[in-house]
Amino acid sequence: MGDSLEQQRTGAAGQASSDRVEELGIVGAGGAGFPTSVKLKTKVPCAIVNAAECEPLLHKDKELLLHHADAMFRGLSVAMDRVSASEGVIGIKSKYADIIKTIQNQAPANVRVLALTDTYPAGDEFILVYDVVGRVIPPGGLPKDVGAVVLNVETLVNIGLDRPVTHKYLTVAGAVHTPVTVRVPVGMSIGEVIAAVGGANVADFGVLIGGVMMASPAPSLNEPVTKTTGGLVVLPSSHKLLERHSAKWPQIARIGRSACDQCSLCTELCPRYLIGHPIQPHRAMQSLGFAFGANSMIAGTLYCCECNLCSLYSCPEDLDPKNVCVQSKPIAREKGLMFKGNPDDVQPHPLFTSRRVPIHRLMARLGLMTFNNVGPTCDIPFAPARVRILLKQHAGKPATPLVRPGDKVRVGDLIAAPAEGALGARIHASIDGIVREASDAVVIEA
Ligand code: SF4
Ligand code: SF4
Repeated sequence: MGDSLEQQRTGAAGQASSDRVEELGIVGAGGAGFPTSVKLKTKVPCAIVNAAECEPLLHKDKELLLHHADAMFRGLSVAMDRVSASEGVIGIKSKYADIIKTIQNQAPANVRVLALTDTYPAGDEFILVYDVVGRVIPPGGLPKDVGAVVLNVETLVNIGLDRPVTHKYLTVAGAVHTPVTVRVPVGMSIGEVIAAVGGANVADFGVLIGGVMMASPAPSLNEPVTKTTGGLVVLPSSHKLLERHSAKWPQIARIGRSACDQCSLCTELCPRYLIGHPIQPHRAMQSLGFAFGANSMIAGTLYCCECNLCSLYSCPEDLDPKNVCVQSKPIAREKGLMFKGNPDDVQPHPLFTSRRVPIHRLMARLGLMTFNNVGPTCDIPFAPARVRILLKQHAGKPATPLVRPGDKVRVGDLIAAPAEGALGARIHASIDGIVREASDAVVIEA
């Protein structure tokens, strides 16, 4: 360890607060990577554990509850203490009866388990919070507006383990020889991960990072695992989902304009519309044929959670209302088309419950029924020769490197930290080795 690295680390630690969660670099492991220490600054009566895991083929959260429930409960205890919650609720699908029984036996008196339906998107924060507390988060609001904070299972496990976030749990699924859930060093390439677990079972394949619904197609197999990578779904190159996720805007708009017959099924099954939010994707589609961006047609698009249900399940024409909503959002924001009604008037649709989409029907629609829908934990001793750890793998600003090429680091060493006062997260080395680059990413060779 060089003196300069030690000094930089000491300096960084001196600047940071004494918040242990912040020190460990913990971010939301199931979404956009919001820094957990910031989320825990709220004060609410209810802490919700999001174990709904509704992305088809992913099994990471269930596996963590199966093997690391102790750590999850320790993390939940810390989180409840921090937000002053008197009650904890673990939302998990009822189909996992064996896990529910186990965690019910371990749960302290102020923590209960809520069995959820096996539907998509049961893990959407707004849907989950409604299921737990029976109140709708207002459009544009946060769970704290109805007295709750929502935390992912792995986030709580990381708090409970009380060590820097150097590894990521993820499921490798789809067209692979053996679907598994593994613990991977952050920064390892997804191609190496897939190869290490047995590889794809087809010659030509693509990878969806994060799941099949809210995924992004991997531009290459060199993409690194980050603190928010929840799954790698391998698909044959010919699979329609790879094509759908790669569609480009001019084509989406042109086809949508000519083919949408305004059947409104996209709206009728939209989970945010059903929860009472003022979103109507068929109206946004309508605006393609008139003046794209017309106020009355795009206003509600700000409240689209981008779950993709409308595009990948509801629309009988295989159109893409989700991306029309995504494109409309900045226009709606610029025009100030925010919800200005009374939050108390926002109530779920009478058919909110009966219109939930069962996962098995979603999987059939997506052409996923041929894949083995399991992901048991497999303890693989990954030993990558090189990792590329991104400095921006969380909400907020990229972290600033605290290391230089030539520095020696060990697993768990602090290698980057947010600038003082900036929203962000600390980043730690995931392998022992020598730093080779420290620019937009820190590259470490074993
Ligand atoms: S992606 Fe579609 S279904 Fe999902 S919230 Fe947005 S408009 Fe509704
Ligand atoms: S479901 Fe498809 S065809 Fe029907 S209104 Fe929505 S985008 Fe148009």
